[in-house]
Amino acid sequence: MTDCLFCTFAAGPMPPRVFEDDRCLAIADINPQAPTHLLVIPRVHVATLNDLTREHEPLIGHLVGVAAKLMRDQGHAEAGWRTLFNVNRDAGQTVFHLHLHVLGGRQFGWPPG
Ligand code: 5GP
Ligand code: ZN
Repeated sequence: MTDCLFCTFAAGPMPPRVFEDDRCLAIADINPQAPTHLLVIPRVHVATLNDLTREHEPLIGHLVGVAAKLMRDQGHAEAGWRTLFNVNRDAGQTVFHLHLHVLGGRQFGWPPG
């Protein structure tokens, strides 16, 4: 999609990648909510988790696997980390191209805010 921020990111060299492959890219969030706050973004445009089809299921598994690898690489595996998708208004989704938030480096509260 031409007017989608994360499609634009996927198509160009910026912002710098923490990781990328043929299916996704991982970047640092511009407004980090933890010492490590990454976004794992599929290259394909899917607006929200509400728009998933069966064909996307392996992709979602891949995004989670990439998140786990990145947090291992960045030293957060043992202490712990959090991952989440925001979906639509009540969760505060602001960019309508699927992305997995991956946060680490501090203690997280439960229930989440
Ligand atoms: P959402 O609220 O949709 O779940 O998350 C969107 C995330 O994208 C937010 O955490 C926000 O800080 C991040 N974001 C928005 N614009 C940019 C940008 O231009 N660059 C980067 N790196 N992150 C962005
Ligand atoms: Zn998009």
